[in-house]
Amino acid sequence: MTTSTVLSGLDQVHVWQEEFYKNLHAHPELSHQERRTAERVSKRLRQAGYEVHGDLGGTGVVGVLVNGPGPTVLVRADMDALPVREDTGLPYASTVMTTDAAGDQVPVAHACGHDVHVSCLLGAAQMLADGRGSWHGTLVTLFQPAEETGDGARGMLADGLAGRIPTPDVALAQHVLPFPAGQVGTLAGPVLSAADSMRITVHGRGAHGSMPHAAVDPVVLAAMIVIRLQTIVSRETPPGETAVLTVGSLRAGSKSNVIPDRAVIELNVRTYSDATRATILDAIRRIVTAECQASDCPRDPEFELFDRFPLTTNDAAVTDRAAAAFAEFFGDRAGPLEQQTASEDFSDIPAALGVPYTYWGIGGVDPQTYRQAQDAGRVAQDIPVNHSPGFAPVIQPTLDTGTQALVVAAMAWLGR
Ligand code: ZN
Ligand code: ZN
Repeated sequence: MTTSTVLSGLDQVHVWQEEFYKNLHAHPELSHQERRTAERVSKRLRQAGYEVHGDLGGTGVVGVLVNGPGPTVLVRADMDALPVREDTGLPYASTVMTTDAAGDQVPVAHACGHDVHVSCLLGAAQMLADGRGSWHGTLVTLFQPAEETGDGARGMLADGLAGRIPTPDVALAQHVLPFPAGQVGTLAGPVLSAADSMRITVHGRGAHGSMPHAAVDPVVLAAMIVIRLQTIVSRETPPGETAVLTVGSLRAGSKSNVIPDRAVIELNVRTYSDATRATILDAIRRIVTAECQASDCPRDPEFELFDRFPLTTNDAAVTDRAAAAFAEFFGDRAGPLEQQTASEDFSDIPAALGVPYTYWGIGGVDPQTYRQAQDAGRVAQDIPVNHSPGFAPVIQPTLDTGTQALVVAAMAWLGR
């Protein structure tokens, strides 16, 4: 049983993969609207011989290939695009406009590279199906909607994902990132931050601006809260822990001589451990509640959590096994991945299924372009990152590397 036999199937993937990718790139779909993408994914999976389950959590698709006794490996790709106006100048750039969840007309682009993830996983799915004589076990390919809104994985779980697939032994996923194409990076432990957004409404008592004694001023109260919240990271978080607390929005009042009756604060928290996450969210509630008491507010504050992403913390043993397989196949193109400040909802799936996982990065930048930017000390300025209008992964070696990485990692379990 050899991984190289399966990998030789890349030639068959080359027949369609690049055109498929360009087509997907030119036809991006927003979170929860991935109907065309899901249809094309289902069709390819059926052609390759997978048992296909659709409409999970809206547009989610799962393809299952049972190939004798052995481990069950789940491999995941996300499918959604972003409300971004593409500015890459590519011949296959998106010009799509669509209606978002709020009813507004917005441009759409694959500015996070999820079209790379879908194309690579479909390629790997075909190679593993065609090369099924070289491995034993069960392969579950999972195409998730709505990663960008943080609720696609939860949606698939709520729709009964666990009952539709054999329980995996391991879960794998990857993301295209702004480092040289052809490279693969792994990291054991926390690799992506947990993210939580919170909307806080504090209630004062409105009055004429000339009569502050008749008011409970929510503007002064909110100002005190914003300052006091800064002490959570600086005074309550252990110095060795990384955390970010940003108040990104503060709204109150409409006129200079009217004391309003409320203020609304919106903040975002990034953490790399569940304990720190819980401590910080508790501290926010404690400080806001106490400041409201100090101001003698007529009503308790309201807290609303939204846009929540779980911590992505890679299992050490699973990561080591994948990293060893990458090192063997990719040689010095495999290396360590830096901890990312971004967030993902992938880990909701393995967490719900009680499965260890690893999540790695593949490069998407033309290696020569990257080297030039590096030599000029201008990587941050000249290399467009995910979510920017100029984000444009170079097709090769990005697609080959992402496809091979998925096969190599899956075979580290299935090929034994
Ligand atoms: Zn993204
Ligand atoms: Zn993404």
